[in-house]
Amino acid sequence: MKKILTIAFIIMYSIVSAQKTYIQCGKLIDVMNQKVLSNMTIVVDKNKVIDVLNGFATPSESDAKIIDLRTKTVMPGLIDMHVHIESQTSPTRYIDGFTLNPPDIAFDAARYAQISLLCGFTSVRDLGGSGVNISLRNAIAKNKVIGPRIFTAGKTIATTGGHGDPTNGYRKDLMGNPGPTEGVVNGVDDCMKAVRQRYKDGSDLIKITATGGVLSNAKNSSNPQFTEDEIKAIVQIANDYGFKVAAHAHGAEGMKRAIRAGVSSIEHGTLMDDETIALMKQYGTYYVPTIIAGKSVADSATKNPTYFPELVRPKALEIGPQIQKTFAKAYKSGVKIAFGTDAGVFAHGNNWLEFVYMTEAGMPILEALKSATVNAADLLGMSEQLGTIEKNKLADIIAFDDNPVDNIKTLAKPCFVMKNGVVYKN
Ligand SMILES: [Zn+2]
Repeated sequence: MKKILTIAFIIMYSIVSAQKTYIQCGKLIDVMNQKVLSNMTIVVDKNKVIDVLNGFATPSESDAKIIDLRTKTVMPGLIDMHVHIESQTSPTRYIDGFTLNPPDIAFDAARYAQISLLCGFTSVRDLGGSGVNISLRNAIAKNKVIGPRIFTAGKTIATTGGHGDPTNGYRKDLMGNPGPTEGVVNGVDDCMKAVRQRYKDGSDLIKITATGGVLSNAKNSSNPQFTEDEIKAIVQIANDYGFKVAAHAHGAEGMKRAIRAGVSSIEHGTLMDDETIALMKQYGTYYVPTIIAGKSVADSATKNPTYFPELVRPKALEIGPQIQKTFAKAYKSGVKIAFGTDAGVFAHGNNWLEFVYMTEAGMPILEALKSATVNAADLLGMSEQLGTIEKNKLADIIAFDDNPVDNIKTLAKPCFVMKNGVVYKN
């Protein structure tokens, strides 16, 4: 009895006397104003930032902890708005569906999640998998698994034979007839059911494949694959449940339908024309470019002619190399940009290379960092809690040895990672 009381006392004591942490920052990137501040201190209490002070403040509380990052550059945790946390590119990708059991996928996904967090991505938006992504999100939120905060679409929504139909390219008896539960829809009623099913499954948002895609075992990379009425039905039901809709699209017609129907973001956007750019600005639609994914698939197809199936290879070579140019044009035209990579299409952990490609295409590094913090939080609908280091926001804080403005390669390896007030790397 006495022992139980002692343990209860210790637990109580640690809750009431939770330590404050003072993080002394040599440099602190103000992503909102795209400025680098010197000699600042962030005060963290439990999982929140409670103050940001000028100079290297020392705590008055005797039990407070100091983290010395006086020689480092500190910034808000990065947010990748397009990942597939369950999988990673591999020449066996197209038979994995027949050989991997859900627990195999789960163990892989846990590893990719850990890699992502330790590379400085404290939040990710997962745009489609088998459903393991929802369990992984929950396990991370309950501190059972180490990883970023996940916002997941669960299973993507496609049309029959479209990009994301999980049975594309199978022989007939294995194709079956997948429906809204599996993420395959035809007509407005199916669309409504698929969104409501995702609500039931526990998804955080909706992902649709508005046009053909590169990696599906099907011929067309860019044709429209939903009618405008179908997308409108999806957006309308999504609104009822507080879901945002992300639309994968390479071809212009599919993008235009999706934008007019009210989706929140266009993913990849490869063959975006001037009319599409004007529509995105008119509707305030975000563009999530994924330049690195395009470059990676083109690279794999070039280096190894049998890396992809016969139908996929020409699409990878045609679509992949074009995204960087599209990004440059969209950026210069003033389209809203949120950082996203399609991690999983390339190896998790290389997400930072997207910053290199964005700056190569003309976006200054501080603006690219803003797209991966402030803009990403906005597209998530989480600006109150994420995206900047400010009083009352969640304590997602990372640091690098160098200032990324002077040395972009420093972004490859953060020296400090805090998520939700917990230090994962120091
Ligand atoms: Zn994707």
